[in-house]
Amino acid sequence: GPIVPQSPCRAEIDLDAIEHNSRVLTRAARGARVMAVVKADAYGHGAVPVSLAALRGGADALGVTTIAEALQLRAAGIDSEILAWLYGVGDDVGAALSADVDLAVPSPGHLDTVLEAARRTGRRARVTPKIDTGLARSGVTLEEWPALLDRLISASEEGLVEVTGLMAHFAHADDPGNPVIDQQVARLHACVAQARERGLECPVNHHANSAATLTRPDDGFEMVRPGIALYGLNPVDGLEADLIPAMTFSAEVLMVKRIAAGQGVSYGHTWYAPHDTTVALVAAGYADGVWRLLSGGLDVQINGRRYPNVGRVCMDQFVVDLGPDPGEAVRAGDTAVLFGDGSDGGPTAAEWARSLGTIHYEVVTAVRGRAVRHHV
Ligand code: PLP
Repeated sequence: GPIVPQSPCRAEIDLDAIEHNSRVLTRAARGARVMAVVKADAYGHGAVPVSLAALRGGADALGVTTIAEALQLRAAGIDSEILAWLYGVGDDVGAALSADVDLAVPSPGHLDTVLEAARRTGRRARVTPKIDTGLARSGVTLEEWPALLDRLISASEEGLVEVTGLMAHFAHADDPGNPVIDQQVARLHACVAQARERGLECPVNHHANSAATLTRPDDGFEMVRPGIALYGLNPVDGLEADLIPAMTFSAEVLMVKRIAAGQGVSYGHTWYAPHDTTVALVAAGYADGVWRLLSGGLDVQINGRRYPNVGRVCMDQFVVDLGPDPGEAVRAGDTAVLFGDGSDGGPTAAEWARSLGTIHYEVVTAVRGRAVRHHV
């Protein structure tokens, strides 16, 4: 067959780590169901294999943003419960109903869309009204809620919808002890109570993301919705949690060479060799998710040792300084770990996030381009 050239950089996804993290979250949920959040191609880890690993680890359901993401999982033969929580009011949600995909209702306009599709397709929609308990992002406001509840009651009497429960999302879950968290919990409980008083059973309600799953097991809802912790990334700074980061981002060392003292390196010569030194060229760049903003603030690990990036990160490559006398410690063809689980002192996605002034969510979802994913 044809020779397929190997990509010089890769993201290896440890599916045993995903399964392990899913098991940890299932235990932390203390009897509540677990909806594994696999939106955005499972935070860049690959939606289908990650979903299967999460289900193996004990997750009961899958959560995604768009209907297209849900349909991708169905097309792969995944028949577990799937909830999609954000779509356009003009979308054809009939495809979701036909594929048994549950839909959030994040605004009154979305209920119009769902009811129209339910009438048209003759399929009863399983819906989860999303309440804006304080995040002020998507969700039905507390002012809109009473009228929406009236409409949900009529629609369920007509057989157009089945309300599976209510959901909401926290603003400060990564800051345990923030008083807004308690306020949001109380608001969702109040909405659930109102719905139940009016005869809607609302069997499965959920508010918790990863941080709340691990820090607030007693909020009293029937399901949790962890994402980032499933990937082994700690949702709360300093929190003790038995999580294993699943993604290792690595790239090949393409060449090793000597440069003279005073030589400027890479575009703009932002770094000059302070002495004769040896540098290595690493085969990943900003087109692959190695942020140019990391230039000069990024270490890689090669054969167990850390080396600093020097000069600007480019589109396809960057340079690391091996020092004046590295001997044979690094050779062309070796693998440079850009970030991984950090267990052997190597760099991590969390470390990148600190350097960048962002969150590890953005680091892992940004790995792309030629960084071919391998599931192991
Ligand atoms: N629920 C909703 C509605 C989300 O948008 C997300 C992701 O941001 C999650 C749950 C999972 O959050 P986390 O990755 O912090 O666990």
